[in-house]
Amino acid sequence: MTAIACPICGTNAQDYTKPEYDGKSVGCRRCGNFSISGTAIAMWSRSNKRMVANASGWIRKNQNIALTSENINFLKGLKTPSLNERAMSILQYIADETIDLSSKFFVESLITDGLHAISCSVSPNELDYLLRTYLKDELGFISIESTVNRFIDGQFNYEVAITPKGYSYLDGLARVNLESRIGFCAMWFDKSVLPIWTSAIEPAIKDAGYEPKRIDSHQHNNRIDDEIIAMLRRSKFVIADFTGQRGGVYFEAGFALGLGLPVIWTCKKQDLSNVHFDNRQYNFVLWEEDNLKEFKVAIQNRIEATIGRG
Ligand SMILES: [Zn+2]
Repeated sequence: MTAIACPICGTNAQDYTKPEYDGKSVGCRRCGNFSISGTAIAMWSRSNKRMVANASGWIRKNQNIALTSENINFLKGLKTPSLNERAMSILQYIADETIDLSSKFFVESLITDGLHAISCSVSPNELDYLLRTYLKDELGFISIESTVNRFIDGQFNYEVAITPKGYSYLDGLARVNLESRIGFCAMWFDKSVLPIWTSAIEPAIKDAGYEPKRIDSHQHNNRIDDEIIAMLRRSKFVIADFTGQRGGVYFEAGFALGLGLPVIWTCKKQDLSNVHFDNRQYNFVLWEEDNLKEFKVAIQNRIEATIGRG
């Protein structure tokens, strides 16, 4: 294990590459853990800070991803999330990283870490803006104690705590259908993708402690009908697989988001580039036909991490 500069963001990273791999397996303070092929490294450029920040943020949300040359144009084309999305990612990150309600979370401008990545911040000044100007001054969701005065531009040490107002906002996000046990799956009803339901999605929902549900659209002639809407209204979360780009799946995922339900986005790896661009901003769990076991584990982990065990 040696120290290297992260191939994506340039931050100090650990190199975990096994001898037979032509790329790099990296543990970066900012991006987290991922691997990237040699060709992909050659195609990437660190010159555009905005592009680097967005890619680093995406990788942080898609840990242990194996990046190949096919992913590079996607990473280069990532849009910056909205101000509010970036700030809420920070709030959730701090809540996840602190042990109890009164815990303080330490932020240091000179150390580039997961908080910089998750908020797609290009600089300490941007992170400072999101924390101090937006989350603290505008929304009152956090309180900040500075341990170092801002004598030098762009440098700060903060102790951040989430306020009761911030916690109740986070609670509100998780309050939809609290008692429900249903994990609903929206996917293409084609024989070619049926194995992802039987070998991965259904057992993943079950093993995470929930009740897997899916409506066979052969009975529904691909119409979004009352039964689907009723099922969505009763669900705790939705898994939406975009392989095949079915209109119904886009609709059901959008409807679930509108209800405030957590949506887990999945897609066949080779098909991700066909997914409508706005949806590609979400944090997809990707699958490959010959590795559905790994997909099952990844979905179960995502359910347990974002919704909790049922
Ligand atoms: Zn990095």
